[in-house]
Order: sequence, then C-alpha cells, then structure tokens
Amino acid sequence: MSVLITRRCTACGSCIITCPESALTSAPLMPAVDPDRCTDCLACLEVCPVDAIQPSAHPIHPIEVESYRIMNSEVDFSSWPAGQREVVARMVHATADDSFASSARIGSEAVEGAISALRSGAPVICDARMVMAGIPSVPTARCYLDQVERSPEAGTRSAAAMTAAAADHPDGAVWVIGNAPTALMALIELHPRIRPAAIIGLPVGYVGAAAAKVDLWAGPWRELAITNVGRKGGSAVAAAAVNALVRMAVDGEWGSDGGTGPGRRVGK
Ligand code: SF4
Ligand code: SF4
Repeated sequence: MSVLITRRCTACGSCIITCPESALTSAPLMPAVDPDRCTDCLACLEVCPVDAIQPSAHPIHPIEVESYRIMNSEVDFSSWPAGQREVVARMVHATADDSFASSARIGSEAVEGAISALRSGAPVICDARMVMAGIPSVPTARCYLDQVERSPEAGTRSAAAMTAAAADHPDGAVWVIGNAPTALMALIELHPRIRPAAIIGLPVGYVGAAAAKVDLWAGPWRELAITNVGRKGGSAVAAAAVNALVRMAVDGEWGSDGGTGPGRRVGK
C-alpha cells in the first residue's frame, strides 16, 4: 500500500514535513509519493488540512475479479512484456473489445516514462473532460478546452487547447488524447518545442483518427507512445490506459508471469 494525493491538495507542504520516511517530496503541482519509502504509517493523512490524502490500496470488487478471469481465459496477452501487458489488458477490460490486444502499439519507453512522471506529480494533460472524468485518482489531470472560448479560424478548439497547454507544460507532462484526432495532430506538430514524458494517443472516429495514430507511431515520439491501429479509441480506453499506469506507479512492482489481474502489483 501507499498513499494517493488527490485534487483537493492546496500544496501547503504539511505532509512533506510530517512524513517520517521522507516518502513525500515537493513536485510542481503537489507532493510526489515514493511508494518504496512509504511504510503506510498514515501520519500524512492526519495532518492534511483538506483531506487530500487517501490510502491507495482499494478493495477489488468481485465483479472486476470475475471480469478479469473471463478476459484472461479468452484473450492472449502473452506476447506483451510486463508493464505494457497491464496497459493493454486494462484497455481490453474497459471496452470488452479484445481487438485492442492486437491493435495496440506501445513504445519501448512509454510505460516507464509515464510511471516515472506520475510518481513525480507531473501534469497529465487531457484533450477532453470525459478523459479527466475517467481518471479521478490523478490529481494533476488538466484539460485546457475551456481556455479556448471559440474555434479559431483555422483548426479546432481541441487543437488550440493543446497549444495552450504546451505553453504551460513544455517539459515532462503526460499527454492523453482520447477524443479528438485534431488534438493528436496538433500535439505531433508541437515537436520539438515540447518534451513529453509519454503520449497516450487514442482518439476515435471516422475522420482523421487512424491517420493521426499512424503519424504518431511513425514520428519522433514513437517510443513514448501508447496508441493503436485504426479508428477505434475513445475517452474510456484512454482513461483505462492511464489507470493501468497509475496502478503500476502506486503499487511498485511489475508482473512477470504473463497473466493480468485487477489486483496484481505491476509497477517498477
Ligand atoms: S503514510 Fe507515512 S510513510 Fe507513507 S507518505 Fe504518509 S507519512 Fe510518509
Ligand atoms: S496533500 Fe494535504 S498536507 Fe500535503 S501538501 Fe497537499 S494540502 Fe498540504
């Protein structure tokens, strides 16, 4: 177990001073948690003035356990290495669409980069509020769509929101596109002006989604990418990929036996 800092955090720093194991460190938006140091004393929960800290271990509902059992009996994830496998399994689990087990594409540095960023409290930039809604345990999730009041003459609000977010977070953010192909295209065009930690590029739709994902996989950020082939995608599957990464970031060990499960400890 470890602890989770939620969006209520006001960055007052009390928990950092209190932690007897130095498991909490200052990060850009709120404290980062080192699960290898945390001893679950829960002293930080006691001092937080806004109840922003929660124990991170959460009971797994029996339906989720059964769902994973059925999925693992029907879908072969064995070709995916540990870490990537957990991400792909969560994508399949969230959609009940086993085609993601073969259509997913994950770069060699994407999982490690995302886990490291999440542990350090890096911002997680989402292209839509629906994506944010699916990752409630990520306190650093942000969506810039509301900062773009109307569509620019050229391009879309989603694309303009990516540009606005890039101005604030040029380094080390995790970028999550689960809705708009134009957002992913705009992000790709920001190379090399920004330096993402990882990119979850899973937009959906008949116009532009497949092409945007091809460009991501063919481009300079390929090794940082979590994406797939084709039109399928969406907020739910993008959020599922993030949630798999969050679980690995918090739990601290990677799976190694080829199986997947809702309660497996699968981080670094
Ligand atoms: S639970 Fe204890 S050891 Fe863990 S981060 Fe909080 S104060 Fe530190
Ligand atoms: S988690 Fe709570 S105690 Fe820690 S910095 Fe945020 S508001 Fe302060």
